[in-house]
Amino acid sequence: MMKIFAMVLAGLVFLVFPTETVFAQEAAVAPTFDVEQASRVYIDTLKGEALEKSNSYFEGGYWLILWGAMVGFLVDFLILQSRLSARFRNWAQRVTKKRWLQPGLYTLPYLIVGFILALPWTIYTGFFREKQYDLMSQGVGSWFGEQVIGFLLSLAIFPLLIIAIFTVIRRAPKTWWLWGTGVVSIFLFIGMLLGPVFISPLFNDYNDMEKGQLRDRIVAMAADNNVPADNIYVFNQSRQHKRISANVSGVGPTIRISLNDNLLERTSPEEVAAVMGHELGHYVLGHTWRLVSIIAAIIALGLFLISRITPRLIARYGDRWGVRDIADPAALPVFGLLLTLYFFAATPALNTLTRVNESDADLFGLNTAKEPDGFAKVAMRLSEYRKIEPGPIEEMLFFTHPSGATRVRMAMEWKAQNIENPQIVKPGLLEQE
Ligand SMILES: [Zn+2]
Repeated sequence: MMKIFAMVLAGLVFLVFPTETVFAQEAAVAPTFDVEQASRVYIDTLKGEALEKSNSYFEGGYWLILWGAMVGFLVDFLILQSRLSARFRNWAQRVTKKRWLQPGLYTLPYLIVGFILALPWTIYTGFFREKQYDLMSQGVGSWFGEQVIGFLLSLAIFPLLIIAIFTVIRRAPKTWWLWGTGVVSIFLFIGMLLGPVFISPLFNDYNDMEKGQLRDRIVAMAADNNVPADNIYVFNQSRQHKRISANVSGVGPTIRISLNDNLLERTSPEEVAAVMGHELGHYVLGHTWRLVSIIAAIIALGLFLISRITPRLIARYGDRWGVRDIADPAALPVFGLLLTLYFFAATPALNTLTRVNESDADLFGLNTAKEPDGFAKVAMRLSEYRKIEPGPIEEMLFFTHPSGATRVRMAMEWKAQNIENPQIVKPGLLEQE
């Protein structure tokens, strides 16, 4: 929280202080560069119907967090209350006498039934709503195909995780939550290590970025920061949607930066450079590790709460549900609904942790690419799916990235401090060049 507080303070100083000094010192000499005015020029390019559409899409998403948690909770509750969970366990016990294997088998019907029960919700939020806002370029068939691939992956991986978790529950009934955190962290680590190599290519084609001026510039930026430039990929995300995007993924030998083709095709070289500066920031600032340790801490607390609450719920409702104790695989939906509540409650904290990283990467990107106007333009383009100018509390609760307005202001502030004789750029005119 201290860090957030410091950032808010820094933001206030940025907004107020330099504009005043600029006015005081240079008003008589040259046309002044007013940060707020320069920012407004950008922010005000989004108006009318486009602004309404952007706000309504993103604000609707606030409710989806709540409904999504309710759907997750209800699915697990139904599986318990209908005694399906007890039946899945009985089935697993009939199939194998190996006790360690039973939780793994249990997860198969559990995942299948959960997938089917949540399907209407998945289709509405993942497909229809995206289509409704014209953010989707995929047909329902290929979209659903990807959902099935994702589901099959979970059928392959989740049973292994659950076997490991129930093994530590049986071996260390008091401290299993701590060992369980270790187990989850190992799975997370393996997933991050192998994800870019084995999972991402199931959904998109990844190719080396084409040779040319832009690539040379990115390679130079990467080299300045000791990032191996052979790890820059372009992937064909335009087959799924038209959003511009880039990311850092992998760990150690598999770490890489990937740009989607929308970014390359829909934006100018200065914008691509600005985005790459940001992505290099994630890479250089070690955000992968920071996030992994934070997630591990969050999971530790979640599992600790589960280890304390589950036995009480079982004591009270166990007969009704047919769940015997915490080491019974049939208790898995109890874990599930508690985790759903926990992560729902933790949403603002998780968003803020992510947003702080993103803001750090933004600043790194400005210092590296030195393209404040390119960065401001990209920030405006992201309004396609992110509300451009939220209130401060709204931004704190719901934003995983700084809002467009915050980013434009940061860019203009950077420009005021780092560019000699800065000029206000009118993006509307530039766009037509
Ligand atoms: Zn980022």
